[in-house]
Amino acid sequence: MQNIISENLAQVHAQMKAACDLCSRTPESVHLLCVSKTKPISMIKDAYAAGERHFGESYALEAVDKIAALKAEGFNDIVWHFIGPIQSNKTKHIAAHFDVVESVDRLKIIERLNDQRPDECGPLKIMLQVNISHEEQKQGCEEEELPQLLASASSLPKLTVIGLMGVARIDASHEELLASFNRLRELKERYNTQYPELQELSMGMTHDLEEAIAAGSTEVRIGTAIFGEREYHHKA
Ligand SMILES: *Cc1c(COP(=O)(O)O)cnc(C)c1O
Repeated sequence: MQNIISENLAQVHAQMKAACDLCSRTPESVHLLCVSKTKPISMIKDAYAAGERHFGESYALEAVDKIAALKAEGFNDIVWHFIGPIQSNKTKHIAAHFDVVESVDRLKIIERLNDQRPDECGPLKIMLQVNISHEEQKQGCEEEELPQLLASASSLPKLTVIGLMGVARIDASHEELLASFNRLRELKERYNTQYPELQELSMGMTHDLEEAIAAGSTEVRIGTAIFGEREYHHKA
């Protein structure tokens, strides 16, 4: 397994570098979030052994078990990102175990994460997820809600808003992907003067990392290309 995952990682890094070269960005300007949801701890360890430190999870309870198990084994320098839909009855777990929460999209969740962040952990980094796919059912706030959400989150002592996150439509054309990702970058640039800590643009997945990097992504969230296809046989 070690070999497959480290080979996959080498390929993903090469793909990221090629995408950076195409638009004259430095490879250091984009980092990799390894999306390990539904995947076993053994695979996370393989990616860790290959040098990765940022991991993304989508199901709170599954993630908390994996984080606790890895911490017990001494893996203390992993940066854990929560990227899934947030149910308000899970915010306590998320606030206590994660370093970055990227999928924040409403006021109630902002307030709960702040209230439930343990004092000894230091401020929780969050990103606001914006609905850039314009699909009705999708996660993410609407653009018009950003000023209010940014103002609320920034006023709270135990949260730091570090960026914006977006998921493009799965079947979007090359042009639509570029348009969605460019839009998110424009929003970051618009609010970044008022909120200087708003620096990250989390966008790009296995199938659209090139477009995301061309549009200015600072973090790509890659699962399938590293760990293989996911099987969903549980509902967390
Ligand atoms: C699962 C997931 C990913 C990873 O998707 P892949 O297509 O497997 O690379 C990225 N972002 C979010 C929000 C996800 O839920």
